[in-house]
Amino acid sequence: MSFEFPDLPYGFDALEPHIDARTMEIHWDKHHRAYFTKFTGAIDGTDLAGKSLEQIFAAISKAPGAVRNNGGGYYNHLLFWNSMGPNGGGSPSGSLGSAIESTFGTLDKFKDEFSNAGANRFGSGFAWLIVKDGKLAITSTPNQDNPLMDVADAKGEPILALDVWEHAYYLKYQNRRPDYIQAWWNTVDWKRVAERFEKAMG
Ligand code: MN
Repeated sequence: MSFEFPDLPYGFDALEPHIDARTMEIHWDKHHRAYFTKFTGAIDGTDLAGKSLEQIFAAISKAPGAVRNNGGGYYNHLLFWNSMGPNGGGSPSGSLGSAIESTFGTLDKFKDEFSNAGANRFGSGFAWLIVKDGKLAITSTPNQDNPLMDVADAKGEPILALDVWEHAYYLKYQNRRPDYIQAWWNTVDWKRVAERFEKAMG
């Protein structure tokens, strides 16, 4: 497969005031681009170059560390950008809204549990909402791992991603990760999340 580095689906300032434009610009243009460049460099000329991300992640325990870290970083940020959008927040409707209520009780209980997964991830990593065996679950991974990887504690199809690396929030929130997470809910693009949910449910 040939991999691409797409533009952000919105402007750097589109998530203000919750996520500031400077953070978005550095995060996308420096951090994400570096993961992409290093990932494509690490698989260039190897057997992995012909595989999909899903295939690579399914056997990531056998791949070099550079592929795990940078391939994860490439994919995880694509999902993170596409978990957010201008005019985000509010509530998911339709089948995703119903599934969240039947799995977690209420949307607020889901948000608390997901926020805790991000806040309690020691060091750097991501919080995820995944679909596993037709059911929703919350999980988190360290570094640039993700739930598609064979090394993940909880495997499944990710539909919502939250980056809790310091580079995602430090300029505006410094050490206050819980404040960043609370503000981040105002950026969540539930329509995109619902589309991934319906696809994952088949
Ligand atoms: Mn990041």
